[in-house]
Amino acid sequence: EALDRIQLLEPQLHSFLCVTAEQALDQARQVDAKIAAGEEIDLLAGIPIGIKDNMCTKGIRTTCASKILENFVPPYESTVTQKLKAAGAVMVGKTNLDEFAMGSSTENSAYQVTANPWDVSRVPGGSSGGSASAVAAQECVVALGSDTGGSIRQPASFCGVVGMKPTYGLVSRYGLVAFASSLDQIGPFGRTVEDTAILLNAIAGYDPNDATSLKVQIPDYLKALQPDLQPRGRIKIGVIKETFGEGLDPVVEQTITKAIDQLQTLGAEIHVVSCPRFRYGLPTYYIIAPSEASANLARYDGVKYGIRVPDAENLLDMYKKTRAAGFGAEVKRRIMLGTYALSAGYYDAYYLKAQKVRTLIKQDFENAFKQVDVLVCPTAPTTAFKAGEKTEDPLSMYLGDLMTIPVSLAGLPGMSIPCGFDESGLPIGLQLIGKVLREDQLFQVAYAYE
Ligand code: GLN
Repeated sequence: EALDRIQLLEPQLHSFLCVTAEQALDQARQVDAKIAAGEEIDLLAGIPIGIKDNMCTKGIRTTCASKILENFVPPYESTVTQKLKAAGAVMVGKTNLDEFAMGSSTENSAYQVTANPWDVSRVPGGSSGGSASAVAAQECVVALGSDTGGSIRQPASFCGVVGMKPTYGLVSRYGLVAFASSLDQIGPFGRTVEDTAILLNAIAGYDPNDATSLKVQIPDYLKALQPDLQPRGRIKIGVIKETFGEGLDPVVEQTITKAIDQLQTLGAEIHVVSCPRFRYGLPTYYIIAPSEASANLARYDGVKYGIRVPDAENLLDMYKKTRAAGFGAEVKRRIMLGTYALSAGYYDAYYLKAQKVRTLIKQDFENAFKQVDVLVCPTAPTTAFKAGEKTEDPLSMYLGDLMTIPVSLAGLPGMSIPCGFDESGLPIGLQLIGKVLREDQLFQVAYAYE
């Protein structure tokens, strides 16, 4: 059914960079055989899943939506896809993204532009736009995305699905092509909170192959799903004052306010809290993320991976020509920004300063979490915008990540859940932010709300 749906909708949506139909049917048959033999199967067995094309899949091309990795077939499997395979989940294909996950609209892909299933003239958000769109359009049941500054939560909001960025270190990044290593985190998309919890259950956990992986006991997130918010004592929810007002679409504001009222009706205690340095998240991120990206992307030099342009005069010329031909405009912009911020004499003024502000932003969250259990705010200041609307103006594109970035800088878990529609019928997302490793509380609130 998923493959039929893909065939029907892909000409319009372009959610997938490749569809792995044969492997998928093969895997599905294996699950069938297990059922026929009376064997126990996992909850995810036989479930069609989409994987963002920045996670390495052994023997299956992994492009990061970049020309430079056009011919890259990984010789190894990422930890997350390995876990999903072991659970019997059926990968139906690799989903589109902004090149190297840099972007907020999936328009930076070197291969295709993904459409928003609610209105195909609009973007699905990004960078995990392919995964969000595929789940929303029922081309697969669940999907994996990666989130560095909002790339799971913002597309979830634009496409009307549930998306979660777990605590930094909860899910292994082994086999995830690195963008900004101190921020990158893999997470689940689903059409329901329950599906999302099932997927997180399957991918979370310590991995010795990822040096930043947390060695912690992973709870069963399904146990957090309770019909209302009362039985475990009144949960305290903080509304982040600074996320309202200027720049926020009035319809988004009204819808979020209504959702907060609903949470109160469900039994939550609502407080207004302040994170005074929240707004410095964006400039801080655009120093840190490009800096780390410039270092991470140095490996694409035409020697070890991906394409190499012919007819170079010497080694340096080969590097230059390969990188000029292989990277798109946004990736080049980030490499230049990052290289500049890290260069001798500027490091203290930019990178080091940004790291200090990052600590202050984190402290704001810590203070807020002394008063409440979960924080809420809009996921994005607007609903999905038109394709092409912001491509000429990177700054306005960056501004859309205002609400998600501070959460990434602080390494906290964040989730976007659908909470209504604007006047044109486009979905709006409510962002829930949790304490470190309290994904269970986000699931609890999200499930009661849903
Ligand atoms: N939109 C943000 C950026 O362009 C976040 C991307 C992400 O989370 N991967 O960097």
